[in-house]
Amino acid sequence: MAGLIIPASAVPRAAAARSCRQCRFHGLEGPDVVCRRYPPQVTVVMVPQPAPRVGQLAPQPFATFPPVVPEHVCGEFAAGGRA
Ligand code: SF4
Repeated sequence: MAGLIIPASAVPRAAAARSCRQCRFHGLEGPDVVCRRYPPQVTVVMVPQPAPRVGQLAPQPFATFPPVVPEHVCGEFAAGGRA
C-alpha cells in the first residue's frame, strides 16, 4: 500500500482532520491500516489439493477487513480514533 500514500502536504487541512487516521473505525493489521466499520469481506480462493486429490481445487475462504490509506476521506468517518 506504500504506493497509495498521499503526502500530508497534498491533503487540505480540513479533510485531513476527518481521514481514516483520525477515525475510530480504523485498525492496524501488521503494516496495513484497515477499516473495521463493517464486517470483514470474504474472498474465496480455489486452492490446489494435496495427494490423493492432486489436480483438484477446493474452495478456501479468507475473511479480511479492507485496507485503507491513512489519508483517505470517506462519508462513514467517526471521530474518536487515535492518530
Ligand atoms: S474514514 Fe471511512 S474508510 Fe476510513 S476507517 Fe473510517 S469508516 Fe473506514
